[in-house]
Amino acid sequence: MRIRFLGGCGEVGRSAVLIDDKILLDYGVRPADPPEMPMFSRQIAKSLEAVIVSHAHLDHSGMIPSLMNCNNNGLKLFMTPVTCDIAKILWRDTIKLGEEHGIHLFNGEDVHKVVKNAHFLPFRKRFSVNGYECELFNAGHIPGSAAVHLWKESEDISLLYTGDIKMEETRLLESASPDELPHADILIVESTYFGTEHKNRRELEREFVDSVQETIDRGGHAIVPCFAVGRTQEIVMVLHAHGIIPFVDGLGISVFKMLEHHPSFLKDASALAAAFKEAKFVSGKKRKKVLSQPSVVVTTAGMLNGGPVLYYLRKLHDDPRSKVLLTGYQIEGTNGRRLLEEKCVETESGPLKVKAEVEQYDFSAHAGDSELKRLVSRFCRRGTEVVFTMHGENAAEFADWIREQGCEAFAPENGQEYIIE
Ligand SMILES: [Zn+2]
Repeated sequence: MRIRFLGGCGEVGRSAVLIDDKILLDYGVRPADPPEMPMFSRQIAKSLEAVIVSHAHLDHSGMIPSLMNCNNNGLKLFMTPVTCDIAKILWRDTIKLGEEHGIHLFNGEDVHKVVKNAHFLPFRKRFSVNGYECELFNAGHIPGSAAVHLWKESEDISLLYTGDIKMEETRLLESASPDELPHADILIVESTYFGTEHKNRRELEREFVDSVQETIDRGGHAIVPCFAVGRTQEIVMVLHAHGIIPFVDGLGISVFKMLEHHPSFLKDASALAAAFKEAKFVSGKKRKKVLSQPSVVVTTAGMLNGGPVLYYLRKLHDDPRSKVLLTGYQIEGTNGRRLLEEKCVETESGPLKVKAEVEQYDFSAHAGDSELKRLVSRFCRRGTEVVFTMHGENAAEFADWIREQGCEAFAPENGQEYIIE
């Protein structure tokens, strides 16, 4: 098996792994200014036969439509139906934002072609791609997220690509189950939180909710930037469980409406519906009203690279009673990272100093340090021969740790190729 890492190595963003020059596992974009793409050549695009998409996040799916206009093979795409529905929303948003900023990655026709060529799969249903048997397993990361298992009986070789994975359940999703994941000779594992343990979820929720409440009590606004997919829905459910009714603004509303059509990919569809029934949706001119009295606003984008969150920051940046409560990892080069490190964000009208308080809460949808170690140890005990660590700034340290446990491991660089027999 020939494995070529095209992106997402030693970094979070633009994940892409090429198998035998024929099958791509993910093809993402790194949200920076300008956006960064995986390594690419016309050669790769021409020989490509299929793309298997682990999940809809743009760092895994963001460049897939661009493949449609440089491949004439009738490229086949495989993913869960909810991944496709979420990705459609995100791809269209990419086109819209691109038009506003003069960046053209692909067009609506390309998105249409992806949807036309897509094969939709539930978890645990076998399918064949270019000589490999494949199966998707729940990865517990966002709705529809999957770990991908590929195997070829004739060559007695198998691979598991975790995509992004979480082994702890949340309000929105069932967790991935390591017991259900099949053996694989080769494991490609994400490393986002290697070296960092997540706080106990219940404690984290308590601290977050207390901080939101305290902000309202002192007459401020709690601005909660969230990724549209998964995080917005999770946070609205957390607030609902603690009796707080938020305003919801941005793409997270469309994602919620779409998720209602895929209840089988959620832990408790009726709990999600109940939380959103009470939340107040806002957009456009209604935004002004939201700020007329102390309020909580759950809004996109999660890393502050565009979206209505910038409207709220423009209005509230000078207000020390207000607070920005970040709810996830902030990739280097994003506005969110800048806010954390410099208390400053970039807006269309230039940089903005933020006097409102800034806090970060680790509502991560990724496995923490001990979950990652347990997962890999389990694979190695069952005979995995080689582990590749990617998708994280500590991928090299993770590979070192795996080697210390007695299993071969590599943290590849973008562009590196391995042949495993
Ligand atoms: Zn992800």
